Amino acid sequence: MGREFSGTTLRIFEAGHVFEETAIRWLRLAGFEIHTETSQGEQYGFSAADGRIQGHVDGILANGPEVIGLGYPALWECKSLNNKSWKDTIKRGLTLSKPVYAAQVALYQAYMEPHVPGISQNPAIFTAINKDTAELYFEQVPFNGQLAQQASDRGVRILQACDAHELLPRMVNDPTHYECKFCSWQDRCWGGKA
Ligand code: SF4
Repeated sequence: MGREFSGTTLRIFEAGHVFEETAIRWLRLAGFEIHTETSQGEQYGFSAADGRIQGHVDGILANGPEVIGLGYPALWECKSLNNKSWKDTIKRGLTLSKPVYAAQVALYQAYMEPHVPGISQNPAIFTAINKDTAELYFEQVPFNGQLAQQASDRGVRILQACDAHELLPRMVNDPTHYECKFCSWQDRCWGGKA
């Protein structure tokens, strides 16, 4: 069994949604046509491997101002970060600073292509909001097919290991790593050592 999220973590998640909603409003005010729901009122997303690999995208940019290098449709992903994390992102860029998010963007571009033709041919727009200063960072992220394939292969490998009851090595050796802190399986994975 997993672990319930603490009240603090749930509040962090909810605050993240508030930042995201605010960013969507700002983009619309700036002239972007952004869709966050299908015509059936559902979040845009995909499902593969009989529903065992799923994802929901933050938004699809269908149109907007003419910006050099930008094309539509484009995937839009948004994260709200603390000052230190935000500064590192603008200094080193998404791929180096936030490799997990970069893989997520590549995977989403690949899996959304059948639903939104052309989305993988245009760079995704990654928006990072500084939670402390309200500064914004935008990065165009061209589709990285190799990264998408790696992330997809990794997902399949995990599913195969689960089916075979094989225990894969942990991603880190420190139970207090931030990824583990937000992981709902932390207690089970580390046997209460965190
Ligand atoms: S607790 Fe950490 S190592 Fe264990 S499954 Fe979660 S993220 Fe992976």
